[in-house]
Amino acid sequence: MGAEEGVNPERREKEQRRGAQVTSQRLAEPWYDGRDAGEQARAVVSVRHAVVVAESRAERNRAPAPDCPPTEEEPMKAVVIREHGGPEVLRIEDVPDPVPGPYEVVVRVKAVALNHLDLWVRKGVPGAPFKLPATTGADAAGDIASVGQGVSDLAIGTPVMVLPGVSCGICALCVGGADHLCADYHILGESGPGALAEYVKVPRANVVAKPANLSYEDAAALSLTMLTSWHMLVARAQLRGGETVLIQAAGSGVGVAGIQIAKYIGARVIATAGSEDKRKAALALGAEHVLDSRDPSWPKQVKALAPRGVDVVFEHVGGDIFEQSMRLLGRAGRLVTCGATTGIDAKINLRHVFFKSQSILGSTMGSKGEYHQLVALYAQGFFKPVIDRVLPLSEIRAAQEALESREVFGKVVLRP
Ligand SMILES: [Zn+2]
Repeated sequence: MGAEEGVNPERREKEQRRGAQVTSQRLAEPWYDGRDAGEQARAVVSVRHAVVVAESRAERNRAPAPDCPPTEEEPMKAVVIREHGGPEVLRIEDVPDPVPGPYEVVVRVKAVALNHLDLWVRKGVPGAPFKLPATTGADAAGDIASVGQGVSDLAIGTPVMVLPGVSCGICALCVGGADHLCADYHILGESGPGALAEYVKVPRANVVAKPANLSYEDAAALSLTMLTSWHMLVARAQLRGGETVLIQAAGSGVGVAGIQIAKYIGARVIATAGSEDKRKAALALGAEHVLDSRDPSWPKQVKALAPRGVDVVFEHVGGDIFEQSMRLLGRAGRLVTCGATTGIDAKINLRHVFFKSQSILGSTMGSKGEYHQLVALYAQGFFKPVIDRVLPLSEIRAAQEALESREVFGKVVLRP
């Protein structure tokens, strides 16, 4: 399928025109006036000149950006959920084009990867009222289509990856580098318009230039699960080279990411998975042993492979698996968990926790700084996404059915 297929040519032309306007505006600024470097330097040291520059910049930020008229009311295609239910409630509808506010950007979505969050919002979760109608979609990559006031560092058309977590940006946790713990934190598409659409609006702080070696599909597939798993293993469990890590449910999105990150660190990976295909794929990703999680003897097999216990357990299943995982943890062991898909109650032997100096660590998403760190690693060629299939956005129902059936290994990616 051609990269430009499905995009209104008129709209594309308009985006290009906006890009040209941004460039000409920049050329008209005092620091692009063509003087030689010496003259410019002399001018810049003049305090009066600096004040004039600051004032003109402030003035520009106050006035509506002339390059991006925020007045368009063109419709775009988006996946809209109007009531909770099965895949049949997913409808492609015309909705108003997003318009960027101050310090926001609009991204023309080229690829968007599904997560279980998309299913939860569609189905509805008791006690978690999601606002309807909703458009989900957290993991996206695309091109900058328009920018709001105050955004001067991104040209129209720049390829970007979209950070899936949105926060207030000004609280102590946000400025302290833990924006994923902000009281206002939400995942894109969880409580506002997400990326299962032709365009998505996000704060400027939520886009990072896409490394050229990643396709849009790769970039979309490498966001949420990689960030979650990186934060779990690197920031929380502080996994080190040579340690043994047990990765539960290795066929899941976070499991696939967890194996790759553990291998990158130099740890030895023991994994569990429920099907032959998933076990094979986990071995191919670098796990040393992959055990059948449906075989009740799997804990014994872990004990045989790691007689003194494992150093880290990567957990997201909960219930019995959590309890068994705790029993397999060695001295100074760390269990890190980001979910409980099978049950939120678990029994813990506290004597083991204190005598063995063990840690139980909760983890959710990761910070914007960690996302930047990961993107730098992608640019160097580390981490390849595992993509199960790529479908057009119009096949959103089939895509969610596939994810729900757990028949997929890796990400399901859609192209608007
Ligand atoms: Zn905050």
